[in-house]
Amino acid sequence: MSDTPSPASDKSFDVIVIGGGPGGYPAAIRAAQLGMKALCIDGWLNRDNSPSFGGTCLNAGCIPSKALLESSELFHKAGHEFAVHGIGVSTPTMDIAKMQERKMAVSKANSGGVKLLFQANKVTGLFGFGKLLGNGQVLYTAHDGKTETYTGKHIIIATGSAPVELKKIAPFDGDKVVDSWGALDFAAVPGRLGIIGAGVIGVELGSVWSRLGAKTAILEALPGFLPMVDAAIAKEALRQFTKQGLDIRLGAKVTAVAKGDKDVTVTYEQGGESKTETFDKLIVAVGRRPYTDNLGCDVAGVTLDERGFVKIDKGYKTSAAGIYAVGDVTGGAMLAHKAIEEGVVLVEQLHGEKSEVNYNAIPSVIYTSPEIAWVGLSEEQAKAAGHEVKVGSSPFAANGRARAIESIAGQVKFVSDAKTDRVLGVHMIGPYVSELCAEAVLALEFAATTQDIQLTMHGHPTLSETFHEAALAVDGHAIHSANKKR
Ligand code: FAD
Ligand code: NAD
Repeated sequence: MSDTPSPASDKSFDVIVIGGGPGGYPAAIRAAQLGMKALCIDGWLNRDNSPSFGGTCLNAGCIPSKALLESSELFHKAGHEFAVHGIGVSTPTMDIAKMQERKMAVSKANSGGVKLLFQANKVTGLFGFGKLLGNGQVLYTAHDGKTETYTGKHIIIATGSAPVELKKIAPFDGDKVVDSWGALDFAAVPGRLGIIGAGVIGVELGSVWSRLGAKTAILEALPGFLPMVDAAIAKEALRQFTKQGLDIRLGAKVTAVAKGDKDVTVTYEQGGESKTETFDKLIVAVGRRPYTDNLGCDVAGVTLDERGFVKIDKGYKTSAAGIYAVGDVTGGAMLAHKAIEEGVVLVEQLHGEKSEVNYNAIPSVIYTSPEIAWVGLSEEQAKAAGHEVKVGSSPFAANGRARAIESIAGQVKFVSDAKTDRVLGVHMIGPYVSELCAEAVLALEFAATTQDIQLTMHGHPTLSETFHEAALAVDGHAIHSANKKR
């Protein structure tokens, strides 16, 4: 496959997927594995106008952000944590151009992998724009303007999402006021960095640039921090991030943004007072909107909801016959793994299989330091849903491995049903909890009881022992930490 594949000669497909991000490309691959003739059209263009598959996730989201989080964490460790191990280094320096080059290489390796997977699975992958024409037809426009019409028995919309812009207050200018993609691409560390929105992007990218030396303030409109996270974990996160130097201002409503030649001044209201602050760069990270621009939903009869998300039923069917939708464009959790599962499950359903997504076991991870991860119901949600709950938690401070790796901040917390003992949710903050969370997801998926986890042996010394200890703590059996009975 070349960088600009020529339009497929055969015009008729079993499945046409519009969008080659996590919702789209796995759907096309799974369709081909099941013997369906699959076409995936993707319109992503990188900054240098090169096309690549993988959507937001591989090109401007999950993967590049994690590459920068790793680089900045290592930089921070070299400067602040090596000494305790007895490692002496002169003051570490950061070559931002080199860091960005590595980030690009990581993204390219992943998006190039999608191209290879398409070849291996005999998926036709085209770079360009797809538009719904109705009657099972899709108009394909290549990046050089050439067009072709394809027919699909099934058409899947997987066009993803785009950053929400505060058009009136702080329109993006690609320089001083940027979205998350712009913030991944800074060529130098801003001296003073402002971020509007203390959500997942705000804290992840705030961590990156703050570790590299930016004096970072995050302005959050809501009075509470990370409201989707279990309250005990969110409280610990706020404490840790504040200790690291992230200046998180809650209940801060931005009212005006004025751009100067070299900086940008933000006016906001907090606690009834009007305040101003000047930054070198301002990141706007206030959520993402569904992306259906020029998709032809109106022509094809695909109904959108009041917020612009494609309306679907439980089988991912839109209001138009033969047209389906998955991933960010449909709403719900805007997560890559949720989009992947939806695309794969939909295609398996189209093939007649009984396949479904378990929406009660979607893991969430925030890749800060310490990391935050959870699955299932928080204590507050479980109570609100009418469960009589029992909870147990264990701190990483009681874990030998955590001490050995100098990462004792954080805890694991179980929320279980007091009557049935079933695990309802697990919430974590601490080292590598992004990885530990997989065990919690499996517990929910297998409808495990707390006792099932208590009776499961965990290797020593591993961080997973804290997961085990937290399950023991639910019934007051924890060996290595205090059992707080409730
Ligand atoms: P997208 O990935 O947005 O892909 C849609 C694709 O469709 C794009 O390539 C787009 O160009 C293309 N397209 C749109 N319209 C058309 C058209 N008409 N014709 C052809 N192509 C079209 N999620 C996680 O789970 N973990 C993370 O760590 C994580 N980190 C993130 C970090 C950042 C900075 C951002 C912004 C997001 C992050 N996300 C993360 C969210 C994740 O990227 C999305 O949930 C995921 O990419 C959604 O997949 P999707 O396929 O629905 O959409
Ligand atoms: P978000 O919804 O996580 O956070 C946006 C924050 O901005 C919220 O706290 C909101 O209250 C606040 N806000 C909204 N309007 C505001 C205003 N005018 N002034 C101040 N604050 C305001 O959205 P995001 O951080 O932009 O991320 C977008 C999506 O990308 C999320 O749905 C997330 O799931 C996904 N994502 C996931 C990961 C991950 O899985 N690790 C990483 C990055 C992004």
